[in-house]
Amino acid sequence: MNWEVVIGLEIHAQLATKSKIFSGASTAYGAEPNTQACAVDLGLPGVLPVLNKEAVRMAAKFGLAIGARVSRRSVFARKNYFYPDLPKGYQISQMDLPIVEAGHLEIELEDGSTKTIGITRAHLEEDAGKSMHGDFHGMTGIDLNRAGTPLLEIVSEPDMRSAKEAVAYMKKIHSLVQYLEICDGNMQEGSFRCDANVSVRPKGQKEFGTRTELKNINSFRFVEKAIEIEVERQIDVIEAGGKVVQETRLYDSDKNETRSMRSKEEANDYRYFPDPDLLPVVIEEAFLDEVKATLPELPGEKKRRFVEELSLSSYDAEVLTASRELANYFELAVHEAGGEAKLAANWVTGELLGALNKAGHDIGESPVSAQMLGGMLKRIVDNTISGKIAKEVFEAMWNGEGDADAVIEARGLKQITDAGAIEPIIDEIIANNPGQVEQYRGGKDKLFGFFVGQVMKATQGKANPQQVNELLRQKLNS
Ligand code: ADP
Ligand code: MG
Repeated sequence: MNWEVVIGLEIHAQLATKSKIFSGASTAYGAEPNTQACAVDLGLPGVLPVLNKEAVRMAAKFGLAIGARVSRRSVFARKNYFYPDLPKGYQISQMDLPIVEAGHLEIELEDGSTKTIGITRAHLEEDAGKSMHGDFHGMTGIDLNRAGTPLLEIVSEPDMRSAKEAVAYMKKIHSLVQYLEICDGNMQEGSFRCDANVSVRPKGQKEFGTRTELKNINSFRFVEKAIEIEVERQIDVIEAGGKVVQETRLYDSDKNETRSMRSKEEANDYRYFPDPDLLPVVIEEAFLDEVKATLPELPGEKKRRFVEELSLSSYDAEVLTASRELANYFELAVHEAGGEAKLAANWVTGELLGALNKAGHDIGESPVSAQMLGGMLKRIVDNTISGKIAKEVFEAMWNGEGDADAVIEARGLKQITDAGAIEPIIDEIIANNPGQVEQYRGGKDKLFGFFVGQVMKATQGKANPQQVNELLRQKLNS
């Protein structure tokens, strides 16, 4: 049987506000437990929540960026459940009237084609506290610092058809919220996490299969693995004559398996109702215009500009716009290099990203700054060094030997472009290799590379390759 996989993601992005969504307590990460939960976050009697306008602004910004409808009127509701990390006994969220509805985002597939993923809604809600199971013998600690931190829950349509597509979509949202500066994207700290809803159906069947929900996955690799292993499990269950049960499951990355956590709760289990302590959120046109004016160039627009104006390949443009920081780095390097976009793209996507990857660094931690890389590229363009020597220069800059000019000077890497200096070397090589010369002249064209290699060796790679080619051809063919 041929199976089709169906996936919808619910992504939780922590909004980068300074204070919480309904109180003035700080949202800074890493403070001593329970030092950043005020009376409102604790749900003490008599307190009232006050909505943080910044959170609304950020949600609206997201809505505009995904071409969604930003609701002129949205409503906060109470989602009731009991859990030790939820002091009020309910979470303030949005149910019937979310702040953002019906958007979409384009993702790139592995074969280079694109696909549009529908975004059903994005709503504002508060985060819960954290249970700490490891630190106390036979007891669980509760840290309420996170209680009340603003979240944007972004719910996709069930539009993805493979684990790879799900990861591509998650990465796109991850990049977008950082472009918009509404979320720091830090997955280790839990600022960006996702629930994956997964089902399978026989290829060609119209109705969706029964789904399970994989909870709280906080890495791209785990999302991919969790979905893959869950798909396998569901297919096994069905092929053995069983039925997939709708439930919430947990992915165990150590064992690479998913385990049942609890049966799926229905919306009515939560007894949702409008929060009587909060007014409906009314957004006026002027506010939206103000938010619109703060929108940066979005990744998709940037990519299009890189392709159309800088003549980059769609692939390079995609890589270079994956994060705003990387795109900024690239553009600065191009500027420094005097506009050589293609050359800069090759170096950034190749040498630089390779080195960063190997060292486990982010672009922000690169020992070679955009100015330094651009400065080096300028020396390739003006023929001071060849592309090959540039690799040595790059490595030296990476290791802290200074900028390109300093390295070229200190290591004596200046390219020999003086024909008068190259010619005698070529003459000598021709004189010393009469056998090869005869074979070459007799039609063995492949030997040309041998001569180029000899000249490069004799000049320690410093001869201008183009010039070597020309001079060699002249002399060998004469
Ligand atoms: P709930 O609120 O109960 O979690 P929703 O209907 O809001 O359920 O859907 C949650 C997520 O599950 C959405 O991202 C949606 O696209 C996805 N989803 C719904 N049905 C399926 C299905 N059959 N297979 C995979 N994903 C699904
Ligand atoms: Mg859900």
